[in-house]
Formats: sequence, C-alpha cells, structure tokens
Amino acid sequence: MQRLKNKTCVVTGAARGIGRAIAARFHAEGGIVVATDIDEAAGAATASAIGCRFEPLDVREEAGWSRLARLVPVADVVVNNAGVTGFESGAAAHDPEHASLADWRAVHRVNLDGTFLGCRYAIGAMKATGTGSIINISSRSGMVGIPGAAAYASSKAAIRNHSKTVALYCAQQGWRIRCNSIHPAAILTPMWEPMLGSGADREARMQALVAATPLRRFGLPDEVAAAAVLLASDEATYVTGTEITIDGGLLAGSAASPG
Ligand code: NAD
Repeated sequence: MQRLKNKTCVVTGAARGIGRAIAARFHAEGGIVVATDIDEAAGAATASAIGCRFEPLDVREEAGWSRLARLVPVADVVVNNAGVTGFESGAAAHDPEHASLADWRAVHRVNLDGTFLGCRYAIGAMKATGTGSIINISSRSGMVGIPGAAAYASSKAAIRNHSKTVALYCAQQGWRIRCNSIHPAAILTPMWEPMLGSGADREARMQALVAATPLRRFGLPDEVAAAAVLLASDEATYVTGTEITIDGGLLAGSAASPG
C-alpha cells in the first residue's frame, strides 16, 4: 500500500542527507514530490535519481517562497528540513562567549527564518483544502543545551516551539492542518563532515559519538524518513503539536547508575 498516494509533498534541503532520504521515501510511497534546495546542481541530480521534480529554493528568501507558491499553490505535505550548523564554512567559534553576531544571525536565518517562511507557505498551500501535514526538522539540540553550538541549539529550540504554535493556530482555524517536529541526533550525513574532519583523530571523534549513543551507532537518514512518512500519512491524523526524537536513545536519560 502506498501511504502517500497522490499527495503533493514539498521537501526543503532535499539535495542530500536527511532531506534526500525523505524525498525518496515519499516518492516510493506514491507522493508527488517537489524536491527543493539552494544547491541547484546537486538538487537537480538528486531529483533526477529519485524521479521527482526539482525547484531551486533558498529557504531564507521570501521571494523564493513566493515563486514556489506560484508554481506549487496547493500542497498536502511540507517538510522544512533545510538546515545548517554554522560549521560549514570553517571553524568559527559558536560558543555563547565567542560567537559573532553575524554567525549567530546566519544560522538563525536558515534554520529559523527558513522554517517560519516554510510554515507560512504551507498554511497558504493547505488552507484551500483545509488539510495537510507540516513537518519541521528540529534536532535533539533543540531540546538540550549545546555549549559549542549556541546558535544551532537556539534555532532548533525555536523550531520546536514554533511547530506547536503553528499546530494550535491551524487547529483554532478549524483546519485539519497538522504540524509536528522531528528531533534527530547523530544521523550520518554530509552535515557531519566539517565537524569530524579528515585528520588522524576523525575515527576517534566518530567513536566518541557512537559511544555516547545508547544504541552504539549512528542513525541512518532513512530512519528519519520513516518517521516523516508516518507524520505525512493519514495514519497520523490525530497527531499534531508533538515531537518525535530519533536519536538512538540519547535523550532518554543519563547512563549513570543510581546512588
Ligand atoms: P546536510 O548538510 O547533509 O544537508 C542539508 C541540505 O540543506 C543540503 O542539501 C543543503 O544544500 C541544504 N541547504 C542549506 N542551506 C540552505 C538554504 N538556505 N536553503 C535551502 N537549502 C539549504 O544535513 P542533514 O544532516 O541532512 O540535515 C538535515 C536537517 O536535519 C537539518 O535541519 C539538520 O539540522 C537536521 N539534523 C541533522 C542531524 C544529523 O545528525 N545529521 C541531527 C539533528 C538534526
């Protein structure tokens, strides 16, 4: 059974990693997928490999969302997945003492402004039918503090809360438009490359991450996509304003023994 048959699904940041896995899964489930990304070459290549449509979209730009609203005026599912850690362009400090205002704002622009604009587009594209599913990809970093990634953690926490606001607003309007957040952690994607590095201690860094995770491994993008399919599908019609963690048990609690 195809769980997303004939549903129009927009996915941001779909060129690679988790967004790509979500776009591929949605397509396999019968969805009419519109993959979007700021990286036009990689996005178009991914869409052609999946067999779906591609539209360029920088989630920070209001004009880009207006263009998408003209091209895809009605949608059933919108996944706000595009995100950055801030470490993409080098080793700038991101702790609360040394982070620059410019770097703080740059991370929030993609993660938070992008999600705000994506939710606004989604509401506009769903309210004619009064039904739909908005899925915002937050992070475990939106639920706990991250000393070395202040802007990332702050933006992801704001996404978590904004998802609940959107859920309640849509319910208040009498629409069956749901909004939920997904909170992955330690999913092996290109996002990790700048943080793992290529030096001699890359393996040690990877082992440290694995050791901190109760299930003792990295997660796979497809394991996040599986939860996105559930939230997008009609199996989740009573699920709104909530959050799903996909983190190998990381947030379940401390491994410390009592005493
Ligand atoms: P990734 O870096 O592999 O992919 C991110 C994609 O977003 C890329 O294709 C990139 O081109 C695109 N992108 C970046 N800026 C954009 C912009 N302004 N407009 C449109 N697209 C843009 O990352 P990933 O690991 O696949 O992460 C996807 C989402 O999951 C992000 O929101 C990330 O914060 C979140 N997440 C990932 C992990 C993890 O362990 N990988 C953990 C928690 C949360």
